[in-house]
Amino acid sequence: MAKIKAIRGMNDILPEQTPVWQYLEKQVETVLGAYGYSELRMPIVEQTDLFKRSIGEVTDIVEKEMYTFEDRNGDSLTLRPEGTASCVRACEEHGLTFNQVQRLWYMGPMFRHERPQKGRYRQFHQIGVETFGMQGPDIDAELIIMTARLWRQLGMEEAVTLHLNTLGTAEERARFKADLVEYLKQHEEALDADSQRRLKTNPLRVLDSKDPGTQALLDNAPHFHDYIDAESREHFDRLCTLLDRAGVAYEVNARLVRGLDYYGKTVFEWITDKLGSQGTVCAGGRYDGLVEQLGGRATPAVGFAMGMERLILLLETLELVPESVHQKVDIYAMAMGDDAQVEMFRIAEELRDQTGLRVQLHCGGGSFKSQMKKADRSGARFGLLMGDDELANGVVTLKPLRETAEQKQITLKELTAELVSIYSED
Ligand code: ATP
Ligand code: MG
Repeated sequence: MAKIKAIRGMNDILPEQTPVWQYLEKQVETVLGAYGYSELRMPIVEQTDLFKRSIGEVTDIVEKEMYTFEDRNGDSLTLRPEGTASCVRACEEHGLTFNQVQRLWYMGPMFRHERPQKGRYRQFHQIGVETFGMQGPDIDAELIIMTARLWRQLGMEEAVTLHLNTLGTAEERARFKADLVEYLKQHEEALDADSQRRLKTNPLRVLDSKDPGTQALLDNAPHFHDYIDAESREHFDRLCTLLDRAGVAYEVNARLVRGLDYYGKTVFEWITDKLGSQGTVCAGGRYDGLVEQLGGRATPAVGFAMGMERLILLLETLELVPESVHQKVDIYAMAMGDDAQVEMFRIAEELRDQTGLRVQLHCGGGSFKSQMKKADRSGARFGLLMGDDELANGVVTLKPLRETAEQKQITLKELTAELVSIYSED
């Protein structure tokens, strides 16, 4: 029978890869913790309307990327393509935005039916951050400064660039959109096919086009920043000042519009040139209108999401994953003979209790030689051996596996003390 395979664009994360994921997750959690953010865990499936009403009917996601299906009750459900809508739904449902501010984060799989390629998958993972109840540019700045700290922590600060823009208010966008459409219509034949379509459905997305011809046309198009009024401008200027003062460099990119409908005022992306065309590793912005749009009371909100696969690709490309991340165990424990094995089980438990070290116990028998081979392959720093001699003398043999020191026989008490002292030095 033909073997069943995973679904295209949906990947297994294998044991040799998970340590890198855990490393990234831990770094992110540490940084988020340092700013007082709390984790929220949401379901992976939501009512389809949640995404239609939030992301926008004429966006790529809703038009062609969602995994939507009918459940057994005939309800239309969707595997979440992003986290912001679910997060807003959860907060509203549980009254988390009423008379209070929230700084939240979540992590997990998202689903989009896109063409799979390097850095673009159908099941991918995001760490998302959302804040509610703060309308000033200070929280926008905090989010960006926090991500900058994360890049430093990961050692990738030189590899990413911050692109920053303001999308102003809905009225400012509407005025700009009218003039932009008028201009683009005069040059419609010169636009790429995608942009011709977007001109009718979602004209601001034309600014996003990767087509050089379209980009050249845009050089003479109306400029969005000419359309923004005092309030949006002050918000943006203050954000820039806060970033300047914090030493976070950015490029103002007036054509940065983002793919989702709900953004206004601040938008930003962190982009790397090391991953080819899938270069956006983190993207976000302000979405003050969304909570109300989903039936809540007006609540200012700003957030971002990071693509974990892209961050991991970048970590690996730049060789930034510390060697120790792949080290699974500290000690590999071996025994020859039934009684020695009983004793080694006891010692291994005691070491785990006393030292907190990771002890892998050899199972499945075999000669000392074959056990030693496994010990070497385990990556452990020390081998621990127990045979008839050791058993009779109440000792155990400690054998360094990574350095050229002699093996020696010591009592369990000495062993514990020695290991504690070695590992407290590191
Ligand atoms: P892109 O322009 O690359 O399609 P997007 O604007 O659709 O990105 P967002 O919805 O803003 O992406 O999601 C935030 C981040 O999630 C992206 O910057 C990216 O790092 C990651 N991401 C988005 N879609 C995918 C995908 N299909 N596979 C892997 N990562 C993704
Ligand atoms: Mg996309």
